[in-house]
Amino acid sequence: MNKVHNWQIGREMDYPYTQAFPRRQFAFVFNINRCIACQSCTMACKSTWTFSKGQEHMWWANVETKPYGGYPQFWDVKILELLEKANPGNQNWAGKPSNDKKKPYGQFDGKTIFEAPNVLTPESARVLGYLPTDEEWNSPNIYEDNPVGKKGVRDELDKEGTALPEHKTWFFYLARICNHCSYPACLAACPRKAIYKRPEDGIVLIDQSQCRGYRKCVEACPYKKTMYRGNTRVSEKCVACYPRVEGKDPESGGQPMETRCMAACIGQIRMQGLVKMNNDGTWAEDRYNPLYYMVHVAKVALPLYPQFGTEPNGYYIPPRWVPREYLRQMFGPGVDDAIERYTNPDRELLAVLQLFRRSNRIIFRYEIKEGPKIYEATLRGKKITMYNDTVIAYGQDGKEIFRTTVEEPVYVRPNKHANSI
Ligand code: SF4
Ligand code: SF4
Repeated sequence: MNKVHNWQIGREMDYPYTQAFPRRQFAFVFNINRCIACQSCTMACKSTWTFSKGQEHMWWANVETKPYGGYPQFWDVKILELLEKANPGNQNWAGKPSNDKKKPYGQFDGKTIFEAPNVLTPESARVLGYLPTDEEWNSPNIYEDNPVGKKGVRDELDKEGTALPEHKTWFFYLARICNHCSYPACLAACPRKAIYKRPEDGIVLIDQSQCRGYRKCVEACPYKKTMYRGNTRVSEKCVACYPRVEGKDPESGGQPMETRCMAACIGQIRMQGLVKMNNDGTWAEDRYNPLYYMVHVAKVALPLYPQFGTEPNGYYIPPRWVPREYLRQMFGPGVDDAIERYTNPDRELLAVLQLFRRSNRIIFRYEIKEGPKIYEATLRGKKITMYNDTVIAYGQDGKEIFRTTVEEPVYVRPNKHANSI
């Protein structure tokens, strides 16, 4: 094992290969507060990549209902249990979130999936993991809309009602794709070296000609985002719609475009980008890149289960109404600050949140032009002021992609078109 630095857990950790980072990294931010589980993303992916024979139960993109749902079923509970078994009582975070870019969420003192297998399975695995059963792969959104908490009475309104900061009865939708991790467990576990991470954008791919279907990647990925295809006997995974990211989509005019699941998002929860990397694997300062801003400046977006150790490049704005303890085990110690900032956004954050899904082109930079004050109120004891700022998005070529305002424009259909569609 080699020592590599993992900034999400704030320390050095063991990894089977030496560290190597792409020039730019595929990354995304999903705002859970907005997801409506319409599954447009899921179907956009399925109809593009996994519609063939042998792929019937294969969902590279899925949206599951938490806490009970999961695809495959119980994926997170099972790996968390294995880690706990490997290191009982010690899977803990130390320190506090800070401005130190090498440990923004403090330090995880427990064992990652790369450090734990020596304890549990000394002979057989480089990475702690398990193979899901066929039944567990059956349903991409099992237990849809099943909440935790008090049961309601049929045809009766709840007499107490509910309010933030926590709802007593809750669930939320977790949209998931491959995280194109900086330390991919799938890649680490593959005995054929069939999995590689592209130096130009950090996208993790399986070389189908090298794969022999040993399913070591399926066993190792803690997010269970590589999948075995029985009729071809090789594994497959999300390819991050790389032709679109490369600007090869006919619509793109040669400019990088976001993936199909991002482009299809009805709830406008998704933004994908390419972030610049430092030689040590931290994100290079890029203050006006919207992903850099949300992850490192506003700190409203957090990695999914950073304690697994793969340094996932998927980030989530946590749901405001969910008990914090549940969210902390899922997104780490940054949860409380992230929710506080999202619930009381400052002027810049409010403007940046307008950038989601106004275009399918990848945004590389934004600029804000200040506008007039349009609203002032006290909400949950805090003063909130809104300005109708204009936020402008620029592409890789430095040209403007679009501009939009904080206050959404309202268009009134003239009377003569009242019944037209
Ligand atoms: S999420 Fe899983 S499949 Fe994707 S790069 Fe990370 S370890 Fe590999
Ligand atoms: S398309 Fe967007 S809103 Fe709909 S389920 Fe997917 S992530 Fe959620």
